[in-house]
Amino acid sequence: MTDAPDRSAAALRDAIGRGEVTVRAAARDALGRAASARAGADGLNILLYQDTDLGDRCRSVQDAVDAKRAGPLAGVPVVIKDNIATTTLPTSCGSRILEGYVSPYRATAVARLEQAGAVVVAKSNMDEFAMGSSTEHSAFGPARNPIAPDRVPGGSSGGSAAAVAAGIVRIALGSETGGSVRQPAAFCGVVGVKPTYGRVSRYGLVAFASSLDHIGVFGRVVDDAALGLQTISGLDPLDSTSAAEPVSELTTAVRGSMTGVVVGRPREYFPDDLDPRIRDRCDRALDALRSLGAEIRDVSLPHTSLAIPVYYIIAPAEASSNLARFDGVRYGLRIEGDGLRGMYEATRSGGFGPEVTRRILLGTYVLSAGYYDAYYRKAQQVRALIARDFARVFDSGVHLLFTPTTPTPAFELGAKSDPYDMYLSDIFTCTANLAGVPALSLPIGRVDGLPIGGQIIAAHFDERQMFAAAYALERSLGAEAHQ
Ligand code: GLN
Repeated sequence: MTDAPDRSAAALRDAIGRGEVTVRAAARDALGRAASARAGADGLNILLYQDTDLGDRCRSVQDAVDAKRAGPLAGVPVVIKDNIATTTLPTSCGSRILEGYVSPYRATAVARLEQAGAVVVAKSNMDEFAMGSSTEHSAFGPARNPIAPDRVPGGSSGGSAAAVAAGIVRIALGSETGGSVRQPAAFCGVVGVKPTYGRVSRYGLVAFASSLDHIGVFGRVVDDAALGLQTISGLDPLDSTSAAEPVSELTTAVRGSMTGVVVGRPREYFPDDLDPRIRDRCDRALDALRSLGAEIRDVSLPHTSLAIPVYYIIAPAEASSNLARFDGVRYGLRIEGDGLRGMYEATRSGGFGPEVTRRILLGTYVLSAGYYDAYYRKAQQVRALIARDFARVFDSGVHLLFTPTTPTPAFELGAKSDPYDMYLSDIFTCTANLAGVPALSLPIGRVDGLPIGGQIIAAHFDERQMFAAAYALERSLGAEAHQ
């Protein structure tokens, strides 16, 4: 029997467990849907590498299913962003410098998905080294939004968001440094979640800005994202920043009522010049939460306007240090030049694209002896104030915050040529990375046929409360979430 694409990941797993669908058929159908969506380089360009040699993998998962030893994702096909290490497919970070590079080890998140029975079918397109908001900065060409192919899917995890939106898989992994899961989720009309910093191991995620980097999960529906996130969460001795905090069951957070839950509406996320149609979709979602029993409270996060400037000092600073490892010696591309220095120069100039080069220059500058105090140290101080804003509202009895995920719907390819204009796409998302708090985007409606995301932000390690609200809102909005 074939796999019907509109069921959830849990429903597919159950169908496989009952013997109605084989593991092989589910994988074959995912790749078949990728072919019909034209997900490769000649079409939407959302998948960089597809695994057509899944025989052994499917057989071993099928054996576990037949022996009633099936894991919580048994036979569920998944897509992984190209900066998360897999051993079966390359990990090239959307960059020429790592083109075709195959990692000798798996990321912990990938290992946990595979231990749960998931089948990795493809690696997805992304902005080079996760620097961007549109997937136009990929060295392998831009990806397109399956809902509106003249538009970007968002970024940097645009390929993963698009793979879920195109119905290829129900669960995909992405990464976030400033919004790269939530923003493309909003643009593609799917669910995207970034956990608390430390909740999911970063082992095997190629580092961009280590203090801001997170692995996140896309789902077609809230339950898919909950199941994926719950599977990859938890302490990992291979990442010293991973947290020992017990992992809560997210898929049982389903909750109809929101009675007693206080939802803050931060005024800085609803500026006067916010697109009135986006404001309207947010108001409709807030009304839905109110009618489920939530109390909506106006709150303020006063340092929000400093988040983009602070992010664009800290992220490039850390990136300039992290990307020093791509030197033509240890990994991937090597272009010979005049002596060792010449080889470094030729390799790095030839291997990195313009946005990555810009970030390395910016980062090196803000860390240089004469400017460190003026830029980097100052940015760290303001980052602490941004984190304190969140701590204050959550300490004042507010359980969750609700905001738009992005200030606009998906824009047309090529529409943002000024880098600063592109940076502003993350204005509502990068705060959660700076503060390390969990945040989730889910579809709340459409504007001109284009999806709009609503963002739910919770206190550190309170993913369960965030998912309870997401489940409730998804159920209450029903079909309106896509209208
Ligand atoms: N768009 C932001 C940037 O370019 C965030 C990217 C991300 O979250 N990886 O840095």
